[in-house]
Amino acid sequence: MNPSRREFIQRLWQVIVAAGASSFFSFEELLAAPTAVNRPRVLWLHGTSCSGCSTAFLDIEQVSVVEILTEIVDLVFHPDLSLATGEQAVRILDRMASEEQGFILVLEGGIPVTLPHACMMAERPMTEWVERLAPRAGMLVAAGTCAALGGIPRMNGTLAGSMTLLEFIRHKGIEKPLVALPNCPMKPEHLVYTLLHQIKLGRLPELDALARPLRFFKHTIHERCIYYADFQERHYAERIGDEGCLLKLGCQGPVTRNDCMRFGHNHNTNTCIRAGHPCVGCASERFPRQIMLHAHGDRRAILHEFEV
Ligand code: SF4
Ligand code: SF4
Repeated sequence: MNPSRREFIQRLWQVIVAAGASSFFSFEELLAAPTAVNRPRVLWLHGTSCSGCSTAFLDIEQVSVVEILTEIVDLVFHPDLSLATGEQAVRILDRMASEEQGFILVLEGGIPVTLPHACMMAERPMTEWVERLAPRAGMLVAAGTCAALGGIPRMNGTLAGSMTLLEFIRHKGIEKPLVALPNCPMKPEHLVYTLLHQIKLGRLPELDALARPLRFFKHTIHERCIYYADFQERHYAERIGDEGCLLKLGCQGPVTRNDCMRFGHNHNTNTCIRAGHPCVGCASERFPRQIMLHAHGDRRAILHEFEV
């Protein structure tokens, strides 16, 4: 049975509260949510990605993705969700690139600039699609670490010359408001929050120098960690399963800005450190590192900033 509008707003409110954004949006404001007339159009593209961010978005629990995509925004095209394929999809994208203005362009994945043919859509490289579509958009969203900070497509040894969305538009001289939402995969609550901020207030949330919302990325994992007292007392875990700070096991919490210690993945079911695993820095500029995983006695993964 379809939920009533009020039930839908209540569930949406739970997402906002869970994302720690309740002080930005009141319940009353959400009750006056946008109607079908002013829902912003969203065009979602995949660069070099694993589709993990789309999958995470589809797994949002409090509000069904269908409700988000039909009540909050008007989804024009998504490579996985849209029925349009082949020539029909190309017609939609060509129309957006030539006729439409002001839509929200969400990019998941990197943009391979050195090797453009590493990512093709309808026999045209992603570089061409983004170069045509970004100037027509009113707002850009770099969804997930690959689009926001480089991530896996730019790890050492890859040859594709992958750029983030922000790097690419600067490279092409395109000036557009942009929000970067790193996390591998992106937290769907961060995207919902960003979209609602734009819809309700007509502007982006406050951002840092890397275009990340300060709301989520102001503090490091380390600053809010449950093991911060252990860190101060130099009480370190030596093996997975031990109590204590995970620094000696390669934890990247001190150099990773994210809200995981306040709100974890899968509707705060858990997060890496609470589950006993070091933060691997999935939302960090340094991700992925050559030595990602800890091994007992292997010091290569330990942050060189610390003497442990
Ligand atoms: S190093 Fe990691 S486990 Fe230790 S306090 Fe910092 S974030 Fe927590
Ligand atoms: S704790 Fe670290 S690795 Fe885990 S989700 Fe958060 S930023 Fe990513």
